[in-house]
Amino acid sequence: MIIVMKRGASPEQIDSVVARIKALGLGAHLSSGEERVIVGVVGTPLPPTLDDEFESHDGVERVVRITKKYKLTGWDFHPQKTIIDVRGVTIGGDEVVVIAGPCSVESEEQTLATARAVSAAGAKILRGGAYKPRTSPYEFRGLGERGLQILASARDETGMAIITEVMTPADIDLVGKYTDIFQIGARNSQNYLLLEEVGKAGKPVMIKRGLSMMLEEWLLAAEYVMAQGNPDVILCERGIRTFEPSTRNTFDVSAVPVIQGMSHLPIFVDPSHAAGKRALVGALALAGVAAGADGLMIEVHPNPDQALSDGAQSLTIPQFDALMPRLAAVANAVGRALPVREAAPVG
Ligand code: PEP
Ligand code: MN
Repeated sequence: MIIVMKRGASPEQIDSVVARIKALGLGAHLSSGEERVIVGVVGTPLPPTLDDEFESHDGVERVVRITKKYKLTGWDFHPQKTIIDVRGVTIGGDEVVVIAGPCSVESEEQTLATARAVSAAGAKILRGGAYKPRTSPYEFRGLGERGLQILASARDETGMAIITEVMTPADIDLVGKYTDIFQIGARNSQNYLLLEEVGKAGKPVMIKRGLSMMLEEWLLAAEYVMAQGNPDVILCERGIRTFEPSTRNTFDVSAVPVIQGMSHLPIFVDPSHAAGKRALVGALALAGVAAGADGLMIEVHPNPDQALSDGAQSLTIPQFDALMPRLAAVANAVGRALPVREAAPVG
Protein backbone atom coordinates (compact mmCIF):
# COMPACT_ATOMS: atom_id res chain seq x y z
CA MET A 1 0.00 0.00 0.00
CA ILE A 2 1.14 3.54 -0.61
CA ILE A 3 -0.09 6.62 1.16
CA VAL A 4 0.24 9.72 -0.99
CA MET A 5 0.55 12.79 1.21
CA LYS A 6 -0.97 16.10 0.10
CA ARG A 7 1.30 18.69 -1.48
CA GLY A 8 2.74 20.68 1.39
CA ALA A 9 1.81 18.11 4.06
CA SER A 10 3.62 19.11 7.26
CA PRO A 11 6.42 17.05 8.81
CA GLU A 12 4.13 16.45 11.81
CA GLN A 13 1.42 15.00 9.57
CA ILE A 14 3.97 12.71 7.87
CA ASP A 15 5.42 11.66 11.24
CA SER A 16 1.98 10.86 12.52
CA VAL A 17 1.25 8.59 9.53
CA VAL A 18 4.59 6.83 9.98
CA ALA A 19 4.01 6.42 13.73
CA ARG A 20 0.63 4.78 13.10
CA ILE A 21 2.13 2.38 10.55
CA LYS A 22 4.84 1.37 13.00
CA ALA A 23 2.33 0.98 15.81
CA LEU A 24 0.60 -1.63 13.63
CA GLY A 25 3.87 -3.55 13.38
CA LEU A 26 4.30 -2.64 9.68
CA GLY A 27 7.25 -1.04 7.88
CA ALA A 28 7.13 2.56 6.56
CA HIS A 29 9.40 3.71 3.71
CA LEU A 30 9.40 7.37 2.77
CA SER A 31 9.96 8.62 -0.74
CA SER A 32 10.23 12.41 -0.99
CA GLY A 33 9.60 13.74 -4.47
CA GLU A 34 9.73 17.35 -5.60
CA GLU A 35 5.99 17.70 -5.21
CA ARG A 36 4.94 15.41 -2.42
CA VAL A 37 5.89 12.62 -0.06
CA ILE A 38 4.80 9.03 -0.59
CA VAL A 39 4.79 6.66 2.36
CA GLY A 40 5.14 3.01 1.40
CA VAL A 41 3.64 0.49 3.79
CA VAL A 42 5.11 -2.99 3.78
CA GLY A 43 4.37 -6.02 5.87
CA THR A 44 1.56 -8.46 6.35
CA PRO A 45 -1.20 -8.70 7.06
CA LEU A 46 -2.41 -5.26 6.03
CA PRO A 47 -5.63 -4.74 8.00
CA PRO A 48 -8.57 -4.50 5.56
CA THR A 49 -9.78 -1.26 7.14
CA LEU A 50 -6.42 0.47 6.79
CA ASP A 51 -7.30 2.28 3.55
CA ASP A 52 -10.31 3.95 5.18
CA GLU A 53 -8.34 4.87 8.25
CA PHE A 54 -5.55 6.58 6.32
CA GLU A 55 -7.89 8.24 3.79
CA SER A 56 -9.18 10.37 6.65
CA HIS A 57 -5.77 10.97 8.28
CA ASP A 58 -4.59 14.60 8.35
CA GLY A 59 -2.42 15.50 5.39
CA VAL A 60 -3.24 12.36 3.36
CA GLU A 61 -4.39 12.80 -0.23
CA ARG A 62 -5.11 9.18 -1.14
CA VAL A 63 -4.30 5.57 -0.39
CA VAL A 64 -3.47 3.05 -3.11
CA ARG A 65 -3.16 -0.72 -2.67
CA ILE A 66 -0.22 -2.19 -4.61
CA THR A 67 -1.01 -5.60 -5.96
CA LYS A 68 2.41 -6.25 -7.47
CA LYS A 69 4.66 -8.56 -5.50
CA TYR A 70 7.58 -6.20 -5.75
CA LYS A 71 6.94 -2.95 -3.96
CA LEU A 72 9.95 -0.90 -2.85
CA THR A 73 11.67 -1.51 -6.18
CA GLY A 74 8.61 -0.48 -8.25
CA TRP A 75 7.66 2.91 -9.62
CA ASP A 76 4.44 3.12 -7.56
CA PHE A 77 6.35 3.43 -4.31
CA HIS A 78 9.08 5.60 -5.73
CA PRO A 79 8.15 7.64 -8.80
CA GLN A 80 11.66 9.11 -9.19
CA LYS A 81 14.61 7.21 -10.59
CA THR A 82 17.07 6.10 -7.92
CA ILE A 83 20.29 8.04 -8.07
CA ILE A 84 23.21 6.81 -5.98
CA ASP A 85 26.31 8.81 -5.16
CA VAL A 86 29.42 6.73 -4.57
CA ARG A 87 32.49 8.84 -3.79
CA GLY A 88 31.28 11.56 -6.13
CA VAL A 89 30.29 9.13 -8.92
CA THR A 90 26.60 9.50 -9.79
CA ILE A 91 24.93 6.20 -10.65
CA GLY A 92 21.52 6.34 -12.33
CA GLY A 93 21.95 9.91 -13.62
CA ASP A 94 22.58 11.18 -17.14
CA GLU A 95 26.05 9.68 -17.39
CA VAL A 96 26.72 6.06 -18.22
CA VAL A 97 29.12 4.80 -15.54
CA VAL A 98 31.83 2.29 -16.41
CA ILE A 99 33.08 -0.23 -13.85
CA ALA A 100 36.21 -1.98 -15.07
CA GLY A 101 38.95 -4.17 -13.67
CA PRO A 102 40.13 -7.71 -13.40
CA CYS A 103 37.90 -10.64 -12.57
CA SER A 104 40.12 -11.45 -9.58
CA VAL A 105 42.59 -9.36 -7.66
CA GLU A 106 45.76 -11.39 -8.22
CA SER A 107 48.55 -9.07 -7.14
CA GLU A 108 49.28 -5.44 -6.38
CA GLU A 109 51.04 -4.91 -9.74
CA GLN A 110 48.22 -6.47 -11.78
CA THR A 111 45.49 -4.52 -9.98
CA LEU A 112 47.29 -1.17 -9.93
CA ALA A 113 48.30 -1.43 -13.58
CA THR A 114 44.69 -2.16 -14.51
CA ALA A 115 43.30 0.58 -12.26
CA ARG A 116 45.61 3.24 -13.68
CA ALA A 117 44.79 2.27 -17.25
CA VAL A 118 41.02 1.97 -16.93
CA SER A 119 40.81 5.16 -14.89
CA ALA A 120 42.77 7.07 -17.53
CA ALA A 121 40.38 5.73 -20.16
CA GLY A 122 37.33 7.01 -18.26
CA ALA A 123 36.21 4.16 -15.97
CA LYS A 124 35.01 5.54 -12.64
CA ILE A 125 34.78 2.40 -10.53
CA LEU A 126 37.33 -0.39 -10.13
CA ARG A 127 36.16 -3.98 -9.86
CA GLY A 128 38.09 -7.00 -8.65
CA GLY A 129 37.16 -10.12 -6.73
CA ALA A 130 38.89 -11.00 -3.48
CA TYR A 131 36.39 -13.74 -2.61
CA LYS A 132 35.59 -15.65 -5.79
CA PRO A 133 32.68 -18.02 -6.27
CA ARG A 134 34.21 -20.66 -8.55
CA THR A 135 32.38 -23.50 -10.18
CA SER A 136 35.19 -25.86 -9.18
CA PRO A 137 36.62 -25.80 -5.65
CA TYR A 138 40.08 -26.48 -7.10
CA GLU A 139 40.31 -23.17 -8.96
CA PHE A 140 41.72 -19.88 -7.67
CA ARG A 141 39.27 -18.56 -5.11
CA GLY A 142 40.73 -15.14 -4.38
CA LEU A 143 43.28 -13.49 -2.10
CA GLY A 144 40.77 -12.71 0.68
CA GLU A 145 41.61 -9.72 2.86
CA ARG A 146 44.90 -9.13 1.05
CA GLY A 147 42.86 -8.63 -2.11
CA LEU A 148 40.68 -6.06 -0.35
CA GLN A 149 43.78 -4.18 0.79
CA ILE A 150 45.11 -4.09 -2.76
CA LEU A 151 41.80 -2.69 -4.02
CA ALA A 152 41.89 -0.03 -1.31
CA SER A 153 45.41 1.01 -2.29
CA ALA A 154 44.31 1.26 -5.93
CA ARG A 155 41.48 3.51 -4.75
CA ASP A 156 43.93 5.65 -2.79
CA GLU A 157 46.14 6.07 -5.80
CA THR A 158 43.55 6.61 -8.54
CA GLY A 159 40.60 8.08 -6.63
CA MET A 160 38.32 5.44 -8.17
CA ALA A 161 35.53 3.93 -6.10
CA ILE A 162 35.74 0.15 -5.64
CA ILE A 163 33.31 -2.75 -5.88
CA THR A 164 33.95 -6.31 -4.80
CA GLU A 165 31.90 -9.42 -4.14
CA VAL A 166 30.80 -10.60 -0.74
CA MET A 167 29.82 -14.26 -0.62
CA THR A 168 28.67 -14.88 2.93
CA PRO A 169 27.16 -12.92 5.83
CA ALA A 170 30.27 -13.80 7.87
CA ASP A 171 32.43 -11.65 5.55
CA ILE A 172 30.20 -8.56 5.38
CA ASP A 173 31.96 -6.59 8.14
CA LEU A 174 35.41 -7.27 6.71
CA VAL A 175 34.48 -6.57 3.08
CA GLY A 176 32.52 -3.50 4.20
CA LYS A 177 35.65 -2.09 5.86
CA TYR A 178 37.18 -1.72 2.40
CA THR A 179 34.59 -1.65 -0.36
CA ASP A 180 32.39 1.21 -1.56
CA ILE A 181 29.82 -1.08 -3.19
CA PHE A 182 29.01 -4.68 -2.30
CA GLN A 183 28.62 -7.03 -5.25
CA ILE A 184 26.23 -9.96 -4.88
CA GLY A 185 27.19 -12.52 -7.49
CA ALA A 186 24.83 -14.33 -9.84
CA ARG A 187 25.13 -17.53 -7.83
CA ASN A 188 24.15 -15.80 -4.59
CA SER A 189 21.41 -13.57 -5.91
CA GLN A 190 18.73 -15.69 -4.27
CA ASN A 191 20.63 -16.21 -1.03
CA TYR A 192 18.04 -14.38 0.99
CA LEU A 193 19.89 -14.32 4.30
CA LEU A 194 22.94 -12.80 2.60
CA LEU A 195 20.72 -10.20 0.89
CA GLU A 196 19.12 -9.25 4.21
CA GLU A 197 22.42 -8.97 6.01
CA VAL A 198 24.06 -6.91 3.27
CA GLY A 199 20.98 -4.68 3.36
CA LYS A 200 21.92 -3.73 6.91
CA ALA A 201 25.52 -2.82 6.07
CA GLY A 202 24.85 0.78 5.02
CA LYS A 203 26.55 0.73 1.60
CA PRO A 204 25.24 0.41 -1.95
CA VAL A 205 24.66 -3.13 -3.20
CA MET A 206 24.88 -4.38 -6.79
CA ILE A 207 22.86 -7.54 -7.41
CA LYS A 208 23.81 -9.57 -10.44
CA ARG A 209 21.04 -11.45 -12.19
CA GLY A 210 20.97 -15.13 -11.31
CA LEU A 211 21.64 -17.69 -14.02
CA SER A 212 17.97 -18.58 -14.35
CA MET A 213 16.31 -15.66 -12.67
CA MET A 214 13.10 -14.12 -13.95
CA LEU A 215 12.98 -10.34 -13.78
CA GLU A 216 10.35 -10.32 -11.06
CA GLU A 217 12.47 -12.69 -8.96
CA TRP A 218 15.40 -10.31 -9.42
CA LEU A 219 13.36 -7.37 -8.16
CA LEU A 220 12.23 -9.47 -5.23
CA ALA A 221 15.89 -10.14 -4.41
CA ALA A 222 16.39 -6.36 -4.38
CA GLU A 223 13.37 -6.06 -2.09
CA TYR A 224 15.24 -8.13 0.50
CA VAL A 225 18.00 -5.51 0.58
CA MET A 226 15.68 -2.52 0.42
CA ALA A 227 13.34 -3.84 3.11
CA GLN A 228 16.30 -3.51 5.51
CA GLY A 229 16.23 0.25 4.92
CA ASN A 230 18.90 0.38 2.21
CA PRO A 231 17.59 2.21 -0.88
CA ASP A 232 20.88 2.04 -2.81
CA VAL A 233 20.54 -1.05 -4.97
CA ILE A 234 21.93 -1.46 -8.50
CA LEU A 235 20.94 -4.33 -10.80
CA CYS A 236 23.38 -5.92 -13.25
CA GLU A 237 22.36 -8.10 -16.22
CA ARG A 238 25.20 -10.58 -16.84
CA GLY A 239 23.59 -13.07 -19.16
CA ILE A 240 21.36 -16.01 -18.38
CA ARG A 241 21.75 -19.69 -19.05
CA THR A 242 20.03 -20.92 -22.19
CA PHE A 243 20.45 -23.84 -24.59
CA GLU A 244 22.88 -21.87 -26.77
CA PRO A 245 26.51 -22.87 -26.17
CA SER A 246 28.28 -20.39 -28.48
CA THR A 247 28.35 -17.78 -25.72
CA ARG A 248 29.01 -18.45 -22.04
CA ASN A 249 25.58 -17.03 -21.22
CA THR A 250 22.87 -15.44 -23.34
CA PHE A 251 22.95 -11.66 -22.97
CA ASP A 252 19.37 -10.60 -22.28
CA VAL A 253 19.53 -7.05 -23.56
CA SER A 254 15.77 -6.74 -23.29
CA ALA A 255 16.16 -6.92 -19.51
CA VAL A 256 17.35 -3.29 -19.64
CA PRO A 257 14.19 -1.63 -20.98
CA VAL A 258 11.90 -4.15 -19.28
CA ILE A 259 13.46 -3.50 -15.88
CA GLN A 260 13.33 0.23 -16.54
CA GLY A 261 9.60 -0.12 -17.07
CA MET A 262 9.19 -2.02 -13.81
CA SER A 263 11.66 -0.34 -11.49
CA HIS A 264 13.37 2.93 -10.62
CA LEU A 265 16.63 1.14 -9.75
CA PRO A 266 19.73 1.72 -11.92
CA ILE A 267 20.50 -1.14 -14.27
CA PHE A 268 23.98 -2.08 -15.48
CA VAL A 269 25.11 -4.70 -17.96
CA ASP A 270 28.11 -6.99 -17.73
CA PRO A 271 29.01 -8.01 -21.29
CA SER A 272 32.05 -9.99 -20.09
CA HIS A 273 30.25 -12.74 -18.20
CA ALA A 274 27.49 -12.76 -20.81
CA ALA A 275 29.88 -13.27 -23.74
CA GLY A 276 32.56 -15.40 -22.13
CA LYS A 277 34.74 -14.49 -25.13
CA ARG A 278 36.79 -11.33 -25.44
CA ALA A 279 35.96 -10.85 -29.12
CA LEU A 280 32.24 -10.48 -28.34
CA VAL A 281 32.50 -8.15 -25.35
CA GLY A 282 32.59 -4.92 -27.38
CA ALA A 283 29.44 -5.69 -29.36
CA LEU A 284 27.46 -6.60 -26.25
CA ALA A 285 28.72 -3.55 -24.36
CA LEU A 286 27.65 -1.26 -27.21
CA ALA A 287 24.25 -2.97 -27.33
CA GLY A 288 23.80 -2.48 -23.59
CA VAL A 289 24.47 1.24 -23.83
CA ALA A 290 22.19 1.53 -26.88
CA ALA A 291 19.43 -0.20 -24.89
CA GLY A 292 19.71 2.46 -22.19
CA ALA A 293 21.82 0.83 -19.48
CA ASP A 294 22.94 3.12 -16.68
CA GLY A 295 26.36 1.58 -16.67
CA LEU A 296 28.64 -1.27 -17.64
CA MET A 297 30.85 -3.72 -15.79
CA ILE A 298 33.74 -4.91 -17.95
CA GLU A 299 36.59 -7.27 -17.10
CA VAL A 300 40.03 -5.98 -18.09
CA HIS A 301 43.40 -7.60 -17.44
CA PRO A 302 46.94 -6.45 -18.33
CA ASN A 303 47.74 -9.96 -19.51
CA PRO A 304 44.52 -11.97 -19.92
CA ASP A 305 46.30 -15.14 -21.02
CA GLN A 306 47.91 -15.34 -17.59
CA ALA A 307 44.72 -14.44 -15.65
CA LEU A 308 43.79 -16.69 -12.73
CA SER A 309 40.10 -16.38 -13.61
CA ASP A 310 38.01 -15.38 -16.63
CA GLY A 311 40.99 -14.56 -18.87
CA ALA A 312 39.13 -15.62 -22.01
CA GLN A 313 36.54 -12.89 -21.55
CA SER A 314 38.87 -10.17 -20.21
CA LEU A 315 39.77 -7.30 -22.52
CA THR A 316 43.37 -6.24 -22.83
CA ILE A 317 44.12 -2.66 -21.84
CA PRO A 318 44.45 -1.48 -25.48
CA GLN A 319 41.13 -3.17 -26.32
CA PHE A 320 39.45 -1.36 -23.44
CA ASP A 321 41.03 1.93 -24.50
CA ALA A 322 39.67 1.46 -28.00
CA LEU A 323 36.19 0.51 -26.81
CA MET A 324 35.58 3.52 -24.55
CA PRO A 325 35.17 6.19 -27.27
CA ARG A 326 32.83 3.87 -29.18
CA LEU A 327 30.72 3.45 -26.04
CA ALA A 328 30.73 7.24 -25.62
CA ALA A 329 29.49 7.69 -29.19
CA VAL A 330 26.58 5.30 -28.62
CA ALA A 331 25.82 6.95 -25.27
CA ASN A 332 25.59 10.33 -27.04
CA ALA A 333 23.35 8.83 -29.70
CA VAL A 334 20.84 7.72 -27.06
CA GLY A 335 20.90 10.99 -25.13
CA ARG A 336 23.38 10.00 -22.43
CA ALA A 337 26.95 11.00 -21.79
CA LEU A 338 30.03 8.88 -21.15
CA PRO A 339 33.04 11.07 -20.53
CA VAL A 340 36.20 9.36 -21.75
CA ARG A 341 39.89 10.09 -21.43
CA GLU A 342 40.50 13.64 -20.26
CA ALA A 343 42.05 15.96 -22.80
CA ALA A 344 45.80 16.28 -22.41
CA PRO A 345 46.81 19.52 -20.70
CA VAL A 346 47.67 22.31 -23.12
CA GLY A 347 51.33 23.35 -23.38
C1 PEP B 1 32.33 -11.72 -11.44
O1 PEP B 1 31.85 -10.56 -11.51
O2 PEP B 1 33.55 -11.98 -11.57
C2 PEP B 1 31.40 -12.85 -11.29
C3 PEP B 1 31.75 -13.96 -10.66
O3 PEP B 1 30.22 -12.62 -11.88
P1 PEP B 1 28.84 -13.45 -11.84
O4 PEP B 1 28.44 -13.51 -10.41
O5 PEP B 1 27.94 -12.61 -12.69
O6 PEP B 1 29.11 -14.79 -12.45
MN1 MN C 1 34.68 -12.91 -13.61
